[in-house]
Amino acid sequence: MVEDEDSIAVPLADGLRREGFDVERVANGADALAAPEPDLVLLDLRLPDMDGYEVARQIRARSRVPIIMVTARGEEVDRVVGLEIGADDSVVKPFGLRELIARLNAVMRRVADGGPAADEPDELAAGPLVVSLRTRRVTMGDDELHLTPREFDILAMLMHDPGAVVSRDDLLRRLWGTTWAVQTKAIDVHVSSLRRKLGDPSWVQTVRGVGFRLGVPGA
Ligand code: CA
Repeated sequence: MVEDEDSIAVPLADGLRREGFDVERVANGADALAAPEPDLVLLDLRLPDMDGYEVARQIRARSRVPIIMVTARGEEVDRVVGLEIGADDSVVKPFGLRELIARLNAVMRRVADGGPAADEPDELAAGPLVVSLRTRRVTMGDDELHLTPREFDILAMLMHDPGAVVSRDDLLRRLWGTTWAVQTKAIDVHVSSLRRKLGDPSWVQTVRGVGFRLGVPGA
């Protein structure tokens, strides 16, 4: 838990410990970055020494540990940015212990499910586009594409069955562990960035009112 305000951190840590979580709390970004890697990071956005986004960026540069960002009311736009830089979910202050625990469990479950199953192929291919589930590398012909973790997950879901429609709800449930309305916007942010990186918007086709499907341009 990265939280500078004692009035929030102390009761929250007590509540989580009563629910069986091991909680280590630090009060600033520098201590967060120096701490041993936990199973999950609960990260306040407003910290005394550095921006929570910067902390998330630096954690994400070296680790895929799940990150839940804690924001204040009215920072909804920032939450989309938080998801874009690789945070896994966000909660808005003031939040209840029950809501937070549901988010924690959803994110932990999703991470536990995230590894490839034994019978899953290592690679998915559609035309020149190849996605390696094992190494999380994506190539288009000879070029490697650099996707964020969420862009990769969206693409991998679509690549499992090219042409089949994947609903927004399925994407939200699978990638964020929630179908919470605000995050619908986050999907659009990730999809438009993914389209840009793929170089042709028709790779990811919008099915109005439903979701998305993978298209192979020119096929
Ligand atoms: Ca704060």
